Amino acid sequence: MWLEPPDDSLDDSLDDFLDDLPWAAWEAYLWQAIAADLLAAFRLTALALLLRLLTADRQAQTVPLVDQLAAAWLQNYGLTLVKDLNATTRRQLRQALAAYLTNPNRSYADLQQTLTTYLLAAPTRGRLPAATRAELIASTELTRARTAGLLQAAALTGLTVRTPAVQPPLHPRCRCHLEPFPADPQTIAWRWYTAADERVCPQCAPLHGQEVGEAVPAHAATSGPPNAPMTR
Ligand SMILES: [Zn+2]
Repeated sequence: MWLEPPDDSLDDSLDDFLDDLPWAAWEAYLWQAIAADLLAAFRLTALALLLRLLTADRQAQTVPLVDQLAAAWLQNYGLTLVKDLNATTRRQLRQALAAYLTNPNRSYADLQQTLTTYLLAAPTRGRLPAATRAELIASTELTRARTAGLLQAAALTGLTVRTPAVQPPLHPRCRCHLEPFPADPQTIAWRWYTAADERVCPQCAPLHGQEVGEAVPAHAATSGPPNAPMTR
């Protein structure tokens, strides 16, 4: 069916309406209508990009902020898997992990070697061979520190972080990580990613790609109803 073009008189009456409208009021009305949405969208896009930069690959030969924060966090943190070791050995292990995080030229093999040396020199030892335990500590504690670093980085960018329901590491040797993902104009979601290889355990595999938590801009987190669709 052929649609007739709209009647010109409609256009004319709209023109008349706009001509009569005081421009200040018109602009104020428009701004009120779209400003909050525009700001929220812009801010979240910027934050999502920033967080992607923060988690930049180690291959880039620069230390991502997340790793710097993870290293700082490690220095004040008692390693959960090494309770049977004395304070001196724990400090040595923390420093070796932090040094690895803040130096892109250090290889993972170097880190394991350093941890093994410290564990062999420790006055108390666990049942596991030192090299095995070094690998266990390195993989698990780097995962834990990087999760802490990411959540701290998000807080630094002005997001209010809601603690994820589950956080890597979920188990010893967990190599999973969280990534920020813009979920909707008001929310950045934390998505869980496994290493996605044949060694991923049955515990973590179903979490791959799932949202496990979120962060929102501070202004959105503090505003009350009716401007708070986040109270779900
Ligand atoms: Zn895992």
